[in-house]
Amino acid sequence: MIKENSSGRAIQVTRSSLPPLDEYIEEIRDLWDSRWLTNSGVKHNGLADALSRYLNVPYTALFTNGHLALENAIAAFDLTGEVITTPFTFISTTHAIVRNGLEPVFCDIESDHFTMDPAKLESLITDRTSAIVPVHVYGHLCDVIEIERIAKKYNLKVIYDAAHAFGSAAKGIGAGNFGDASMFSFHATKVFHTIEGGAVTSKDPQLIERLNYLKNFGINDDGGVESIGGNSKMNEFQAAMGLCNLRYVEDSILKRKMIFERYTENLKGIQGIRLPQAQKDVKPNYAYYPVVFEDYKYNRDEIYKKLADENIFARKYFAPLTNQMVCYQGQYTEAVTPNAEYISERVLTLPLYAELSLETVDEICMSIKR
Ligand SMILES: *Cc1c(COP(=O)(O)O)cnc(C)c1O
Repeated sequence: MIKENSSGRAIQVTRSSLPPLDEYIEEIRDLWDSRWLTNSGVKHNGLADALSRYLNVPYTALFTNGHLALENAIAAFDLTGEVITTPFTFISTTHAIVRNGLEPVFCDIESDHFTMDPAKLESLITDRTSAIVPVHVYGHLCDVIEIERIAKKYNLKVIYDAAHAFGSAAKGIGAGNFGDASMFSFHATKVFHTIEGGAVTSKDPQLIERLNYLKNFGINDDGGVESIGGNSKMNEFQAAMGLCNLRYVEDSILKRKMIFERYTENLKGIQGIRLPQAQKDVKPNYAYYPVVFEDYKYNRDEIYKKLADENIFARKYFAPLTNQMVCYQGQYTEAVTPNAEYISERVLTLPLYAELSLETVDEICMSIKR
């Protein structure tokens, strides 16, 4: 029985990466001279540029977290009526729509990669639909070609929740290039982080300018206030953490890949356990290792509990679905999303972070097999 890992701690589903302490101190040292701590400082601007290069996107607007990045991205398009999204996501996606005064309409997911099923999208479009907010779940990419074909046909905006997709790419095109805008989260638990943080990427420089105003009370470059913005700026200490972490992210994704492959080696071929499927032409970021317990000898909840008894904390991610959460219960009952329900009841994401040892992965898998 695994009581604890080598460092004497329980094994959590994730563990935040940190740069060497001295490197971070070096990065923030000049802030003690400049006293410029927030509002588009040197670190902030440097990180926005570095991220545009790394993500291979034209423009990046930074935010204090991913949720406010998404809320502002939706606000920037002045949408009305209904927005089509999926319920198989973190609650933030649905909240960002509702907090903009818009009505979420839930589309089902396809069951291989858990992203919006474009075959079920078109029948949900009404004359009140103004946008689509799909989610690149676990770093898998949505069927962007089909979603955007449908969006164009009905003149709808597409804003991706790419919180999971940092570093993912399709045929060399970075995840942040699709649709009208994409939101990334740089929360401490994500593949790349700025402690808390987020960004919106887009091809449209005017959208990015508008977002940079919106995140600072709507104040434009001349000091005029042209929009009703809030405050969701990324500060210099967050940006400095990002500049440091960005130097290690490639290495960290490689380590994740090795861990990911070790899980697959250990768990492949077991009756009733479905492992993550590679996507054609997609370079993933190995953000999560989702396992679907379909008709294994134990169900998902039993596995979850047995692992927890051994100090291994997997995560029922995403369960419940967002439209089943207390605040939304009974409000969108027309939603029929059988695949989302099926996966949500059976999926478990296993511990995965760059510093997780392959030996621990073996032990976790032995536990599951037992
Ligand atoms: C993390 C996450 C968010 C929210 O990002 P924060 O940076 O935590 O605010 C939104 N959507 C999804 C799918 C996420 O995983």
